[in-house]
Amino acid sequence: MEQKERSSVLIIYTGGTIGMKEDPVDQTLKPFDFSQIMDEVPEMAKFAGRLDSYTFDPIIDSSDVEPRLWQALATLIRDRYDDYDGFVILHGTDTMSFSASALSFMLNGLTKPVIFTGSQLPIGRPRTDGKENLISAVEIAAAKKPDGSAMVPEVCIYFGSKLLRGNRTTKINSEYFNAFRSPNYPPLAEAGITIRYNLPVIAQPSAEGFSVHTELDTRVSILKIHPGITPQVVRNILLGAETRAVILETYGAGNAPSAFWFLDIVNEACQMGKILVNVTQCLQGTVNMDIYATGKRLKELGVVSGYDATTESILGKLFFLMGISKDNDWVKKRLCESLKGEISK
Ligand code: ASP
Repeated sequence: MEQKERSSVLIIYTGGTIGMKEDPVDQTLKPFDFSQIMDEVPEMAKFAGRLDSYTFDPIIDSSDVEPRLWQALATLIRDRYDDYDGFVILHGTDTMSFSASALSFMLNGLTKPVIFTGSQLPIGRPRTDGKENLISAVEIAAAKKPDGSAMVPEVCIYFGSKLLRGNRTTKINSEYFNAFRSPNYPPLAEAGITIRYNLPVIAQPSAEGFSVHTELDTRVSILKIHPGITPQVVRNILLGAETRAVILETYGAGNAPSAFWFLDIVNEACQMGKILVNVTQCLQGTVNMDIYATGKRLKELGVVSGYDATTESILGKLFFLMGISKDNDWVKKRLCESLKGEISK
């Protein structure tokens, strides 16, 4: 593994397919422990720096990820921040984009890489993608510029030869090795014979000092608009007493039905002070509520644009902002700002 200086990397193992083996009893994939992962990757012994590991207990399929895992990850990184040059988080692919998005907001003033990775095939299988993903993620986490600063001081996902900004990603494939895409932001790096960094699109290290925010308010619902959606469903989700914010997954450039009953419920939710965010169902492109009358009406009622953000990213951003403040107007204002490069503005 190529490295100019000795770097130290902490590998944090949370679970996922990368560390799973087939259970001989019921043939389902179940997690195994970290030492067995390292046994499968003897190449890691060639890493020129210091490599330590931390294993979460229990190790989980990422379908079981809850915000408390994000809080534990953020706290662990805070506690070990001064001891390492970079962090690699082994995580299941199913919710990796949610976790990377949330962490990007919770870790403030980052000056070191935090690289999520995993695999589609367990690391013990002959055609596994796990080895390359792990080896390259460690190399990226250790990479430094000539001045000694981190090459990528961001929360990222490395997968299928690409390094992507974490809060721009979404899982787009359940079968092939290129499982993730960053539809509205270019890759930060691509791995071939060498790892080519796209420096102009990588965030600058923050000067404000590293801090961690672990207070999250999870009172968010997601409503995917579809033909045939009923007033009862919309009312239950938008007006529910436990819901402080709703992500509306709308059509195209941010359009929704123009039926009076629909707009009346949206209006009632906005009047109640709830936060409604408009995110497009399209994989690529942005919300623009000024193009069509159906989108413009939502804007007039007080729905906030999610611009070109992913749903995963807006969910993490809402949890984070609502955890900071009880003031919904303040949260709405901050939603319109790019906090960690999650929207193009
Ligand atoms: N179900 C697995 C998980 O998300 C899938 C994977 O890791 O690829 O933990």
